[in-house]
Formats: sequence, C-alpha cells, structure tokens
Amino acid sequence: MSYNRIGVVTGANKGVGLAIVRQLALQYPKSPLNNGSFLIYLTARDQGRGEAAVKALEQDAQLKSAKALKADGGLSEIKFHALDITDSGSIKTFADQLKQTHGDGVDFVINNAGIAMEGSNAQVVKTTLGCNYYSTLEACHAFIPLLKSTGRIVNLASMSGHLNKYSDEVRNRFLASKTEDDVTSIMKDFASAVEAGREKEAGFPSAAYAVSKAGMIGGTRALARSEKEKGSSLLINSCCPGYVNTDMTKGNGTKSPDEGAQTPVMLAIQDIKGHTGLFWQNEKQLEW
Ligand code: NDP
Repeated sequence: MSYNRIGVVTGANKGVGLAIVRQLALQYPKSPLNNGSFLIYLTARDQGRGEAAVKALEQDAQLKSAKALKADGGLSEIKFHALDITDSGSIKTFADQLKQTHGDGVDFVINNAGIAMEGSNAQVVKTTLGCNYYSTLEACHAFIPLLKSTGRIVNLASMSGHLNKYSDEVRNRFLASKTEDDVTSIMKDFASAVEAGREKEAGFPSAAYAVSKAGMIGGTRALARSEKEKGSSLLINSCCPGYVNTDMTKGNGTKSPDEGAQTPVMLAIQDIKGHTGLFWQNEKQLEW
C-alpha cells in the first residue's frame, strides 16, 4: 500500500503526542500540503499502550464525525510502531523498516517523546539529558536520511529552555553555538557542574529538564544550520506546546492536549514559508 504523505510522531501513546496524531488526522484535509492518502505512525515505547492509543483514536467521536480516518472514508490511516528513543537498536529497527516500506521517503517526524523527573542530582541529569537531548538528536540523525527533500523535523522543546535563567556567559555560549558539538559541550559542562555540586556558580539553573530543553532548542538550530549548509531544503524547527494538562504537568496545565498540539501540527503540515532553525510557541516564532 502506498501513501502520498507519511508522518511519524514519537511518544504518542498519551498526552501531547497522542493529541498531535489526532490533530494531524483532523487538520490534514484542509492543509495546503494535502496531496491525498496520509499515513501517520503513532509510535510508543510500550506496545500495549501504543496499540491501545491507536484503538482509542479509531473509536474517537470527533475523528469519526469528521470522517478523518480511512476506515470512515477519509484520508488518514494511523499505524502503531514500537519506538523507544533511548534504545539505539529500537531507533535503527524502525528506521530500517521505514526505509524498506517507504522508498519514496517520509514527509515529517515530530520528536515529541520526553521525560521530566523530580530533583536535579547527577543521575537525574544523566537520564534527563540522555532522553530529551541526546536520544532526540540521535533520532533526528537516524530519520533525516529517510526524509523526502521537502521533509520536516519538529522537536518538542519547551519555554523552560528559554535563556533567561543562565549567567550572561552561558547564555552567550548558547547563542553563539553554531554546531551540535557546541551545544553538546554546554550540556557536558552542565552535567560536570552538577556532579561537582556547583551548577549555580557555573551559571546554570538547577533543573535538568530546563537545560535539556535549552539543549533541544540549540541542537535543533544547529541541525537546521548544518542541513542548510549542505544545500538541503529540509525544515527543522523546535517548539513549546504551552503549559498543557498531561501526566507530565500532573493536571496543572492550562491548555488542553489538543490546544498544545496546534504549534507542532502547524510546523508539520502547514505552509511555514520556508522557516527553519527557529523556536515557536502559540504558532509564532519566539526569541530564544
Ligand atoms: P507525558 O509525560 O504526558 O507524555 C510523554 C510521552 O513521551 C509518553 O508517551 C511517554 O511514553 C513518552 N516517552 C517518554 N520516554 C520515551 C522514550 N524513551 N521513548 C519513547 N517515548 C517516550 O508528557 P507531555 O505529553 O506533557 O509532553 C510531550 C512533550 O512536550 C515532551 O517532550 C515535553 O517535554 C514537552 N512539553 C510539555 C509541556 C507540558 O506542559 N505538558 C510543556 C513544554 C514541553 P510512556 O507512556 O511509555 O511513558
């Protein structure tokens, strides 16, 4: 079976990721990029949770009344595939499968999977940067070669990655970072500073999550720059979904998951005028 458009969403069994899949199916018919049948890979690290999420979407009243899904006469089909972004083997298995199944390429990947842990000791920093920064970038590198020439990457960062929490020196290092290695060296310095119990003196906030998301904004910017320099026309952006009511925010978020999905969905299937390497919130570009 061939599809005209193919998208991938990571960590999509619940929260913002699940809402992104739902909104992709709902908004695609009116998208300027609508060119017919649309396959959305809902990926999750746990097969049971992922398959249950696909089933829930197949029964979703709004998707049914909009006739969004193929089974109801619409354009979109949602398929589960296992993907744990912290497992290199899992990334490779999925990338190989995409390559074999979709020789013409994939249109976009939305890297939504992420974690937020309590505390800020060295182990929390290692695990948080590991998933939110290193594994997300590893996924980007695995998927970029599979994208069509018009492909897109959307990385879920956060407003907590804003640079107003850093010393001038660290802030300037982030802003001056041109390559992924530049950003990674800041992540390494943060991890070493936490290990030495001197992250405040080194100009960092204590929150591993915030630093991982600053890394994501900088890493996305560096990735976009490097693709541009190679002459590629991929559009690679990061965004904040807003403060969304999900398990991550323990019910305190002020936006619904569907509202939180709007900016990532826009960056994947709307006309974004060729913008790349930018950070977005509320469907607008933001200063970092
Ligand atoms: P949730 O905690 O509700 O959901 C996170 C999702 O990521 C889950 O599906 C989880 O799977 C998945 N996940 C975690 N680790 C991995 C992994 N190693 N491999 C694959 N999937 C994984 O969070 P939200 O929906 O709130 O957040 C989604 C994204 O948006 C995150 O990147 C978050 O940082 C970002 N964000 C959220 C904000 C908010 O207010 N909610 C604000 C700013 C940014 P599982 O169910 O198996 O744990």
